[in-house]
Amino acid sequence: MSFDVAHCMLCPRRCGADREKGVGLCHCGTEIRIARAALHPWEEPCISGKHGSGTVFFSGCALGCVFCQNRKISRQAVGKAVTVEQLADVFLELQEQQAHNINLVTGSHYTPWIVQALERAKPKLHIPVVWNCSGYESLEILRMLDGLVDIYLPDLKFYAPETSGAYANCPDYFTVAAKAIPEMFRQVGQLKWNGELLQHGLVVRHLVLPAHRKESMQLLDWLAETLPTDAFLLSLMGQYTPPDTSLPDKHLNRHIATFEYESVREHAVQLGLNGYGQERSSASASYTPDFWTEQ
Ligand code: SF4
Repeated sequence: MSFDVAHCMLCPRRCGADREKGVGLCHCGTEIRIARAALHPWEEPCISGKHGSGTVFFSGCALGCVFCQNRKISRQAVGKAVTVEQLADVFLELQEQQAHNINLVTGSHYTPWIVQALERAKPKLHIPVVWNCSGYESLEILRMLDGLVDIYLPDLKFYAPETSGAYANCPDYFTVAAKAIPEMFRQVGQLKWNGELLQHGLVVRHLVLPAHRKESMQLLDWLAETLPTDAFLLSLMGQYTPPDTSLPDKHLNRHIATFEYESVREHAVQLGLNGYGQERSSASASYTPDFWTEQ
């Protein structure tokens, strides 16, 4: 794919912005901005390990969910500007700090530059690269990443067009994600482990939303029908947090009920999916490992 920075069609928004003169719907121009780069111990156990995942949080976002908890980063693109060379150095510094992997969080709108940084760092980089994204990912972006990413960690957020239209202004969310996730699986294939740590494979995250447990189950049904259930992991999250300001959709102004989370979790068990759940009572939203396989 040829990337035209003056008419950006990189992500599924295809907004056509001239990023040399301004910003697109992702709130980003040509400057790579990162909000944080640090070891992160609270990702899924298979990537956090003992020392933590080497997370790099990119500023800006093309999705823009109404309940986003990181608005300053996603909407205002708050962060530090770095060059491709500096970004490659950030990856290597995280490796030196004993990160178990390089975890690229919401970097889709910077993909051409991230690819350059990865290629620059690759000869010295000996840990897996994780692509941590919203699931609203174009096939063009994924093809650029083919061979550079070891672990895909996409969200799978919405099933119904009405929901994704209302909550993220993208009625086509599921249509896009339903093409992107199989392409991710095609690239990385079966799960490969080094002891307790994942080295290669696909982990799909799903956050159960208030009043949407049926939709969660439809997403799990799709996953079980589409991918071999023993070849990827599901991370079922229950820590939905209402934003500070009240939203017009009253459902989004409350936490999910235990019943809602548990019913989705039971559905995952029935489908034979493997992965992680969360202790909903835990303030740190810690993960409980492999709970489906124990049943
Ligand atoms: S990456 Fe940004 S500028 Fe490019 S199409 Fe997507 S939203 Fe528009």
